[in-house]
Amino acid sequence: MHDVNDAGFFVSAFATCLLVILFTLLRRQRHKPQNRMFLLLTVDILLSAFFMMVRAFEGYHGNPSADSFVLIEKSRYLYFVTHTALAPLFCAYILMVIGAADRLNWPKRLALAAPFIVTELMVLTNPLHHFVYYVKPDGDHVRGMGEMFVYVAAAFYMAAGFLQLLIHWYAMTVKRRIAISYFVTLTVLGILIQLLFPNIRIELLAEAVGLAGLLLSVENEDDRIDATTEVYNRNALILDLDEIFRKGMKRYALCIRLRLREPYLLLEGVSASNALLEAVSDFLKENEVWYRIYRVTPNGFMILSMDEGLLEVVEKRMKEPFALGATEVRPEYRLVYAAVQEEMSSTGEVLLMGDAALPPVEEGLLVSGERLKILLRRAEAEEALHRGLQEHSFEVFYQPVHEGRGEKLYAAEALIRLHDSVLGELYPDEFIPVAEQNGIINEIGAFVVQEVCRFLQSGVPEKLGMHHINVNLSVVQCMQEDFVLKLKEIIGHYRIRPSMLNFEITESVAARDYAILERVIREFKENGFKFSMDDYGTGYSNMHSVFCLDFDVIKIDKSILWEAERSERGRIILENSVRMIRVLKKQILVEGVETRAQVELLKKLGVDYFQGYYYSRPVSRPDFVKLYQERSETENDG
Ligand code: C2E
Ligand code: CA
Ligand code: CA
Repeated sequence: MHDVNDAGFFVSAFATCLLVILFTLLRRQRHKPQNRMFLLLTVDILLSAFFMMVRAFEGYHGNPSADSFVLIEKSRYLYFVTHTALAPLFCAYILMVIGAADRLNWPKRLALAAPFIVTELMVLTNPLHHFVYYVKPDGDHVRGMGEMFVYVAAAFYMAAGFLQLLIHWYAMTVKRRIAISYFVTLTVLGILIQLLFPNIRIELLAEAVGLAGLLLSVENEDDRIDATTEVYNRNALILDLDEIFRKGMKRYALCIRLRLREPYLLLEGVSASNALLEAVSDFLKENEVWYRIYRVTPNGFMILSMDEGLLEVVEKRMKEPFALGATEVRPEYRLVYAAVQEEMSSTGEVLLMGDAALPPVEEGLLVSGERLKILLRRAEAEEALHRGLQEHSFEVFYQPVHEGRGEKLYAAEALIRLHDSVLGELYPDEFIPVAEQNGIINEIGAFVVQEVCRFLQSGVPEKLGMHHINVNLSVVQCMQEDFVLKLKEIIGHYRIRPSMLNFEITESVAARDYAILERVIREFKENGFKFSMDDYGTGYSNMHSVFCLDFDVIKIDKSILWEAERSERGRIILENSVRMIRVLKKQILVEGVETRAQVELLKKLGVDYFQGYYYSRPVSRPDFVKLYQERSETENDG
């Protein structure tokens, strides 16, 4: 018979478990198998404590009646039934926490569960064979051989859980290590104390308190869980990936990158984008047993999965709208998909699937296979951009513009170059689109303007007879609210006349953001800057902007010139473009002039300005100055 002190331990254990269960149910975070296993584990300890409680209280009557004797007997039996499940449940829970459970296939799972199934069946059927224990008519408990098996199985599961813990030690956050060690230590201490002092029945209480510790740290995975969508966060992804690469585990990674279309965003702001994220994550959670979901960026999810089928499911679902309250939303999205060991060779590379600038949408919504290489190259370019800013390896080159009549030097175009210490020479066609996506374009743009101002301040361009220097503008720069203001600050600092700067902007941009462009150009012109339309004739020709925007010069793209040399149709396009721009009283520049024949052709058409390799490639500032000083000297000599 037990002392009533025992009842105190059991009541405390019971109350603690109840609290843990209540708390777990109140927090809505129950969708993961790990959470459900935790709940099961707690319920198991709760029941064990409950049966022990009943037994202790009934035993307290002193001389138990026949009824309470039966009750005590039943409680003892049920306690055995629930307590036998404890160690296996704990082991399963540990396997889930460290992510080892989903690696086990069904035969392995069955093998692991076998000792549990055998011992539990043994305990359940004990009333038939009394193999586990036997209760003498006077109430004395006699241990049977079977109890040994139960203990051995429990020890096996504890040891297995422990071993897995050690193996995955470095895949856990420090917080988890502490929490799990705390639980294990408490449980082992409880068992030891009970072994040494059979009268102090502290084991269940120790386990219950240990569980509470797990709840507060492991289950309440604040450090691993994203608050908005309740999936794993980036931090968790990094830790898990590190382990995947350390162990050479095979996984498929799928990144979903979302973007709300602008009207929705303006309408409802942050709440709308959060609602969308939640809607998408709800869909992803539907089958979460088979994969793990992470929020890798503010607008992106990463899924690590063991089977390939996931891509198809997600691709199909993303084509359908998502319901945000009463409205249906079709988010803009891109998918990036890769086999983790074969195509991605480090945690950093997998993260790039969420972080790196993607190829343009026109090239497809899914980036996978060969196109992952573009992604990695883009990411390399992105790194080079950051390096460039740090190491000051950007340089502005200048390419001359000559007058059509007389072919004298008229102006120059500033063209950016990047001499990267790792990748070597980088050209703007590659890195400008990347810089536009990640915002570095603003810093590059400011650098170009500063360099050009410095050149102008030296007085050399004016001495060489140049009217201005052309600077390329990206639409991202124009979108900045205080762009013109910043520009004025810079040129004020160098005391440059605004008319010494001529900004070039591409036509396709004009077509897309016409209203903004109109405002920006007006502001520029009011401040005395000049403006050119760049790349005329590429993409869709927007006559409207040629007509209405106040450009000083229209730059006809080199492709038009080259086509004019190749075909009759091309010649007609060039001739008519020139004629039309003439009629609109704008000046015309043709770029890409490489041969004397082209010069003659353009002269006949009456083009105002020429630019191209025929005169000079883009060269560094010292080379540019040297080239024209030499030319003016030979002219003077002649
Ligand atoms: P773009 O504005 O059309 O610049 C003209 C491009 O054609 C330059 O390429 C130039 O080197 C090249 N080019 C000029 N004449 C000839 C020729 O006779 N034959 C051939 N084959 N090519 C010629 P680059 O320097 O590689 O620049 C590429 C593009 O990068 C530029 O196209 C421009 O859109 C952009 N870019 C360059 N610098 C900047 C910058 O500072 N800011 C911004 N936003 N974009 C820039
Ligand atoms: Ca240009
Ligand atoms: Ca061009």
